[in-house]
Amino acid sequence: MTTSATNACNVCRGPLDTPLYHSAEGQSLTSLCRLHPSTIEVCACARCGHLQTRTIENVDAFYDHDYDILVDSEEEDQIYEMRAGTPIYRTAHQVRVLRDTLGDIAPPLLLLDYGCAKSSTIRTLCEQEPGIVPHLYDVSARYEPFWEKFVPPGNWAIKQTPPGWLGRFDVVTSFFSLEHIPTVIATMRHVVSLIRPGGRFYGIVPNVVTNVADFVVVDHCNHFTVPSLARLLSDAGLITERIDDSMHRGAFVVVARKPERGTAPAESNDGPTIERTCAALSGIADFWRDAAGRVRQFERTLPGDAEVAVYGAGFYGAFLRASLAEAERVACHLDNNPFLQGKSFNGKPVLPPAQLPAHVGAVLIGLNPAHARRVVADIPALARPDLRLFFL
Ligand SMILES: [Zn+2]
Repeated sequence: MTTSATNACNVCRGPLDTPLYHSAEGQSLTSLCRLHPSTIEVCACARCGHLQTRTIENVDAFYDHDYDILVDSEEEDQIYEMRAGTPIYRTAHQVRVLRDTLGDIAPPLLLLDYGCAKSSTIRTLCEQEPGIVPHLYDVSARYEPFWEKFVPPGNWAIKQTPPGWLGRFDVVTSFFSLEHIPTVIATMRHVVSLIRPGGRFYGIVPNVVTNVADFVVVDHCNHFTVPSLARLLSDAGLITERIDDSMHRGAFVVVARKPERGTAPAESNDGPTIERTCAALSGIADFWRDAAGRVRQFERTLPGDAEVAVYGAGFYGAFLRASLAEAERVACHLDNNPFLQGKSFNGKPVLPPAQLPAHVGAVLIGLNPAHARRVVADIPALARPDLRLFFL
């Protein structure tokens, strides 16, 4: 796969300026932490504050065949955070945030999860609220075995929605899907056509400012900001009720309402907000330009044959590994997620932190730099006095 050129903003169609960032030639990472043989370019839109990555060609085939997020098992889940040594899983957190945010979700409620993948969040929600009538939509048929277990036949659609769904739903949800869609405006207009007048849209998308990994993943063509989200919702015909950056770490939680009648008033973003947003994005570009160089600088301070461990079998861990001059010096990855422990990550074992081999004298911390030090402070195995730690 290669990248294709696009010079217009996916949200406002404004022209995109010179890229803020290029990845190393032929070397980028996907959101599933795999190396991808392409060079990415990331541009900011001065008109609406959106950030955009040049799109992978043949994007449909990528999702049909290559995009297998957590399809290994029913229970497999990602850790949202550790609380007092106990993992809080992402699905449980997403259900709680949805309930807290939407408030009144008393059944009967017609709900559509759009771009749903396994739809673990809606499945868990429906277990708690059996009166909710779930409907599902995705571009891929690969998740059907999961859907069959909680959705009646006829209540899911693949690639095309049936005409009977128009104007039908009380709530349409979208969990981490809009960031993948180049034609996001057309998609959101379609979503709005499926919501009943007065019904709501509830979405979660990554927040690149608080989760900087999002800046460099090749398969996220959209990186939303507060002004670009407001513009997207308004242009799609919705009235924004909430754009929250605190309920789900590293993400925006968005609620918007379809007007009962007529059209939504146009959103007017103020220039200074967009300018501030663009300045923050430019700072993240600087961080990533320096990051690989800093990893190699640290590596040069190690004895030639020294092995290291990488904390994290996720995106940042994969980035650290890809940035080392001698990737083979990685002995293992460490991770708190029990679903990852015992597996391998890019050919190296994933161990619980307590099993860090005694001969490994350095650990590269592959965690979101905004939280890495706090997380590491809670891991006794990394407090070994002779251990050298590298933070992004
Ligand atoms: Zn724009």
